[in-house]
Amino acid sequence: MSIRRESRGELRAWHQATREPVCVRWARGRITAVEPCSGAVPERRWIAPPLFDVQINGFGGVDFQRDAMSPGDLLRAARQLRAAGCTRFFLTLMTDAWPRLLARLERVRRLRARHPELRQAIAGWHLEGPFLSPEPGFCGAHDPRAMIPIRAEHVRHIRAVTGADPVLLTLSPTWAGAPAAIAVAVRLGMRVSLGHTDASQACLRRAVRAGATGVTHLGNGCPAVLDRADNILWRVLDTPGLIASLIPDRVHVSPPLFRLIHRVLGAEAIYYTSDAMAAAGLPPGTYTLGRLTLEVGPDRVVRLPGTRNLAGSAVSPLQAVFRAAAMRRCAWQEAWSRLAQAPARFVGLPGGLEAGGPADFCVLDVDARQKAVTVQTFWSGRPAGPPVRLKP
Ligand SMILES: [Zn+2]
Repeated sequence: MSIRRESRGELRAWHQATREPVCVRWARGRITAVEPCSGAVPERRWIAPPLFDVQINGFGGVDFQRDAMSPGDLLRAARQLRAAGCTRFFLTLMTDAWPRLLARLERVRRLRARHPELRQAIAGWHLEGPFLSPEPGFCGAHDPRAMIPIRAEHVRHIRAVTGADPVLLTLSPTWAGAPAAIAVAVRLGMRVSLGHTDASQACLRRAVRAGATGVTHLGNGCPAVLDRADNILWRVLDTPGLIASLIPDRVHVSPPLFRLIHRVLGAEAIYYTSDAMAAAGLPPGTYTLGRLTLEVGPDRVVRLPGTRNLAGSAVSPLQAVFRAAAMRRCAWQEAWSRLAQAPARFVGLPGGLEAGGPADFCVLDVDARQKAVTVQTFWSGRPAGPPVRLKP
């Protein structure tokens, strides 16, 4: 690797997606060429597009649900995510009283506008609620008292606040106005994902016809115990046309179910998210998620104290990739795509290593068995931090 002058450089490595040797060149923060490499390439060096997580509720001790969050806090979270391989994310706001939630969205959008780094890092907004199912189990860690039926005017308010920014909306299609609201959301350029719902199969299909394309964290946002003959998992798996996100932390979805979902849907209909909250990137302890106080155990699982209810995860997107690869018993390169290119494609944004694109990428060093040992992120052609050592 040679990094000449400020942000100009060249790297020869194996490409994560094609698994072919490539030569990547960049200048002034943009990639200028990605070409097949005929010369020698370091045997254990790989290059990959950075991770892209569409569901980040907080990170590194910063809770995005808190109105006291300062621009410095937000910047700190974005930089920590970046140093851990994730250069872009959708800042995710969860259920709250509707006027309060809209005001929060407006506020975080103003914080983002003030800083060029935040404009690059926050690629869009994910609203998870308040249009979810208030039923026990299906509401998850969201406050059922704040949930309201979705109407088209709510969607127009979101668009008015977000301008032309990418928006992902997670909702339950069981509300009477959902099909009309979904159609308006899609017309206004949003992506609609179904989640925290006990929708019937007919209801799911109506939502797909209206334009919904996703399912948010399949296997979660539902009670821990389900009817074995008819439940939301079977209904979603039997509904064509939906791309499902999974939280691959080994706990939100058990390893056998994780593998089965891949077999049923096929990898192309799946992307991963960490669903990270403030505790991600920090040791076990007590953290906040909006008005909730949550416990993070040594297993990195986030729980409402004294219950089995899971509330987001404390794994970073980078840890999620390697946990997914271990559960699927697949190469890390395959799992990497599901938290980099796949979510970008789902929300309609570029996600690969392309000439003309930003010089943001990850460099991975592997051992003799092709196991990834370290990951270093480059942002605008410069190292975003020291290499992160992966736990064996
Ligand atoms: Zn959720």
